[in-house]
Amino acid sequence: MQREIRRADVVIAGGGASGLAAAIELGMKAPDLDVLVIEKMPEPGRKIRATGSGRCNISNTGAAGFNRIMEFFREIGLVTKAYENGLVYPYSESASDVATLLTERAASLGVHFAFGEELMSVKHLPASLVSDAESGSRNVFIMESVIKDRDGLRSITTHASFVIMAMGGKAGPTYGTIGDGYRIARNLGHSVVTPVPALTGIECDEWDTGNDPCGITLGGTRSSGVVSLYKDPSGNFGEETRVFEEAGEIQFTKYGLSGICVFNMTRHMRFDRRAGESLDRFLVRADLFPKGDIEAYIRDRQKGRFADTPAGEILRTVLKEPLADYVIASADSGRDEYGRALADKPLSSLSDEEVRSIADHVHKLEFHPSQIRGWNDAQVTMGGVSLDEINEATSESLLIKGLYITGELADRDYPCGGYNLSNAWLTGLAAADDIAQ
Ligand SMILES: Cc1cc2nc3c(=O)[nH]c(=O)nc-3n(C[C@H](O)[C@H](O)[C@H](O)COP(=O)(O)OP(=O)(O)OC[C@H]3O[C@@H](n4cnc5c(N)ncnc54)[C@H](O)[C@@H]3O)c2cc1C
Repeated sequence: MQREIRRADVVIAGGGASGLAAAIELGMKAPDLDVLVIEKMPEPGRKIRATGSGRCNISNTGAAGFNRIMEFFREIGLVTKAYENGLVYPYSESASDVATLLTERAASLGVHFAFGEELMSVKHLPASLVSDAESGSRNVFIMESVIKDRDGLRSITTHASFVIMAMGGKAGPTYGTIGDGYRIARNLGHSVVTPVPALTGIECDEWDTGNDPCGITLGGTRSSGVVSLYKDPSGNFGEETRVFEEAGEIQFTKYGLSGICVFNMTRHMRFDRRAGESLDRFLVRADLFPKGDIEAYIRDRQKGRFADTPAGEILRTVLKEPLADYVIASADSGRDEYGRALADKPLSSLSDEEVRSIADHVHKLEFHPSQIRGWNDAQVTMGGVSLDEINEATSESLLIKGLYITGELADRDYPCGGYNLSNAWLTGLAAADDIAQ
């Protein structure tokens, strides 16, 4: 195997959002430093290209450090636009343009890139152990990385005075993030809060391992509503056990629930399997008619020209057809004395109990989570390098001087809406500014 040895002032491990922001900032603020980005994918910013469904929800007017982030984008010539709900996008609404601009800007500032190179390990030699001639009285980091190409496996040793670990988490592994950073951080003495996928869909018992619930195809149906999450280890899900609530578009899929409000819910569904905990401690309730009162709506129509209308039909006036059919099938506790299903019963013949049951199912439709969708579907990682060991203002490790841990690799995650990219930009900029000083 061939072996190369090289040196840089700063090595940035990972050319994603955080790493590219740090690289450009260093190029602008400390042009004399030799900066090298090591990126395992054939090009940097693969994940950036996939963000915001290809539009890149770059930030949010409510995100921490929003002004600093916008100042950075202005400096590099990226024009952005903010929507009334606070979501900020590049003006072109092209995520690819953002990744290309960041890469080109970094290259034009003299940042070096090593693409298709995987960082395997980082060792730290404190300044006291390194001769002045070797280190210039600085810390020394020694990194091992490999390149696999047509010529076989090449191994490279890199010496640097500063390392920015910007290797992301485990969400979206096809974009290069499979959790390498956790292993390297652990080997450097850092503790890692167990990473779990978040901002993803929820599989539910009602779908009975992939089958349509109640034989009704809900997959592909969308409904505005309010989702609530209840948490109780003994399964008594009273109102006092509600831990999350959000209005939005609920997407019913072939496995269960999805949509931004459901994604955000998954950030509240952490549990410890090793301690014997399971998803049984959670219950999801959906209000599919949050602005109205379905009980009053039905009672209004029990007399007069709608009296003979079947209950199932009246529900279809407020809910999409598959959802109306599912709600009434769930509310049905059995056929009546004439062998009629609840859906077929005329409004006028519904008992009080039946009206209440329909109302309960419209306003509090229950879903029992069986699984949180895995890393392939997740947008972010919950968990990561412990924040107790990172300086919040500079992203520098509190254990090792000269080592910086930025972006999703650290134990920070946020809801949808541009907050996770904001965290990546901001922590990358903070690391670069600290080094530049
Ligand atoms: C599909 C999808 C859509 C998203 N949309 C949005 C959105 O619109 N808005 C938002 O705010 N957030 C969004 N996110 C989340 C956001 O993209 C991430 O939180 C953010 O990219 C994290 O930035 P990062 O720099 O920490 O890590 P990443 O951007 O993941 O970059 C890490 C980089 O490190 C590289 N790497 C990993 N290991 C090694 C190694 N051993 N050697 C060398 N390189 C390595 C990876 O290849 C990768 O390029 C989305 C996520 C996904 C998956």
